[in-house]
Amino acid sequence: MTERPQQFASDNYAGLCPEAWAAMAKANAGSAPAYGEDVWTKMAADAFRNLFEAECEVFFVFNGTAANALALSSVCQSFHSVICSAAAHVETDECGAPEFFSNGAKLLTAASADGRLTPALLRGLATSRSDIHFPKPSAASITQATETGLVYSVEQVRALSFACRELDLKLHMDGARFANACAALDCAPADITWRAGVDVLCFGGAKNGLGLGEAVIFFDRALAKDFEYRCKQAGQLASKMRFLAAPWLGLLESGAWLRNARHANSCARRLADKVRGLPGLSLAFPVEANAVFLNAPETVLDALRKKGWRFYTFIGGAALFMFAWDADPAQVDALAADLAEIAQSNMAFNRKVR
Ligand SMILES: *Cc1c(COP(=O)(O)O)cnc(C)c1O
Repeated sequence: MTERPQQFASDNYAGLCPEAWAAMAKANAGSAPAYGEDVWTKMAADAFRNLFEAECEVFFVFNGTAANALALSSVCQSFHSVICSAAAHVETDECGAPEFFSNGAKLLTAASADGRLTPALLRGLATSRSDIHFPKPSAASITQATETGLVYSVEQVRALSFACRELDLKLHMDGARFANACAALDCAPADITWRAGVDVLCFGGAKNGLGLGEAVIFFDRALAKDFEYRCKQAGQLASKMRFLAAPWLGLLESGAWLRNARHANSCARRLADKVRGLPGLSLAFPVEANAVFLNAPETVLDALRKKGWRFYTFIGGAALFMFAWDADPAQVDALAADLAEIAQSNMAFNRKVR
């Protein structure tokens, strides 16, 4: 089997981008106060306030599961529920952490063909019951960009937050790929967050070029009350916080957060453009961010695996390819060329046996 120089199975296969690495090295000079009392943490939080043009509260945690679970536990009590898409990472990939950290709040999931939550789905679930026996809806969670590689438009986020206000729900955004969404929409980060009614955002760092780390950003500052205690209790308070915070500063100050996301998105479009129209292949979802979901016959997928390509098929059986800051366009082209060759020989074979 061919050893591939680069794989596109996930956007967290990438290493640290140079800007994050350099910031890490800079923060490594000498000693600094611990537990977030250092200048790096303060500067990184200020950089977020700058980026969002808002006096938001900013916290740094180790990963996305913790960010989401702790953010959600700050918008609900144990008897509450949180409405999300059935495809939401908080539902399918966090091992029950949101329920665990909220001491039992329940996720109410809406089946959605493309993974997006809509105001109608949200209203349907929020108003399905109002009696004492049902966990009271207290928040909604949306993923931007979605697990299916789609992006909520500014209008869609606004429509959802409008429904949330009406139903007295807080709005949480899982932004593991928030930068990719900003790049796709070419809008100010504020436009799809607080200006559109988002109360708390989990801004993903790992998939944007950090080694690790996510930022929890409260636009509704009252919700951030005692959040540092939640972080500490959950084992998410870094003692050498500067190493969690400084790489963010590197990403934000240099603009790499957006450059990285633009590059990743463009590599997804590059692959999509090259495989569109190949016999037997189709895109399972429109390519709006950094992911390509490819429907293909099992024989094609097997042949692709034999050529050394790694990919997952956990969403509807489609082969998933994801791109990060480090995606090499030449390797994207190599993948596309292999797909073309396999698809064409598969078609020729099918003709012969018929
Ligand atoms: C990757 C990801 C996360 C974070 O996952 P961790 O592995 O816990 O860091 C959260 N939400 C979505 C949609 C993701 O893709």
